[in-house]
Amino acid sequence: MDSAYLKAARSGLLEQRIYESRLLLKDCTLCPRGCRVDRLSGTLGYCRTGAIAEIASYGPHFGEESVLVGEHGSGTIFFCGCNLLCIFCQNYDISRPRGAGCQPVDDRQLARVMVKLQEQGCLNINLVTPSHVVPQILSALPIAVKSGLTLPLVYNSSGYDSVATLKLLDGIVDIYMPDFKFWSAASAERYAKAADYPERARLALREMQRQVDDLKINAKGHAERGVLVRHLLMPGGFPETEAILRFLAEEISVDCYVNIMDQYRPCGRATDFDELKGTVSAKDYRLALQRAKEFGLTRLDQADFSRLLRYMLEKRL
Ligand code: SF4
Repeated sequence: MDSAYLKAARSGLLEQRIYESRLLLKDCTLCPRGCRVDRLSGTLGYCRTGAIAEIASYGPHFGEESVLVGEHGSGTIFFCGCNLLCIFCQNYDISRPRGAGCQPVDDRQLARVMVKLQEQGCLNINLVTPSHVVPQILSALPIAVKSGLTLPLVYNSSGYDSVATLKLLDGIVDIYMPDFKFWSAASAERYAKAADYPERARLALREMQRQVDDLKINAKGHAERGVLVRHLLMPGGFPETEAILRFLAEEISVDCYVNIMDQYRPCGRATDFDELKGTVSAKDYRLALQRAKEFGLTRLDQADFSRLLRYMLEKRL
């Protein structure tokens, strides 16, 4: 199955989208923050990223969902900076730009990274925290395509995406992997200063689903196209989890592929908040899986042991 952007590159659609997205950098409304700063002249908005993307690291990653990993890993590119900035982020350091190890990459360098991941045998190009660097990703693609890139793109975002920007990715991205983090505006405001997150995430998910539909997995067990939603259970956050799962079943699709994650640990500045100092109970996790099934969601990601083992070896845990 051809990756969507190959057709877009042939038809001229990709060039058009690059042009349109670059315009947004001048008066930035790329994401729901709507900072309206001129990033092309070096003014920084909430994501603290200018005209050039920065990356913290890249490489084959075996800790992702098994449908994304294959034999040789998912080709992750960790972008620095973030438009959401949750206080409990497990990548807290790199979500703050110019943090530890962040390197600016121009279009050629970013394209080279993508091609290198393909040469390493990765199953896809997994763009981690891409919402604030959509124009830079698009601009790198034609160069990568000329160098032979064919792997599908995974848009791995926080879910805090603008529908207008997602429309620029229609026909370019094959796999959307958004988080759905908060159902309540109060939680979104408290932990990410983004009271509009729940509404924005709902709109973004509907748009992603419209573009690529339910996740399609081929005979080898590899994701080819579609939406995969992640939801991190939070300590004491079960009512929000329940509402999110209900929304996915009722308004996205009962065939939505969902990863309910129980690995919350207090990272970043989470310990500033008493209620975030703990972890998630096994009971809440079991109950979340049960609720998902009651709502009709059956495609729940199952952690597979060999993948976890490889991930632990990779991380030397
Ligand atoms: S991408 Fe960055 S500068 Fe642009 S609106 Fe979002 S947070 Fe603001």
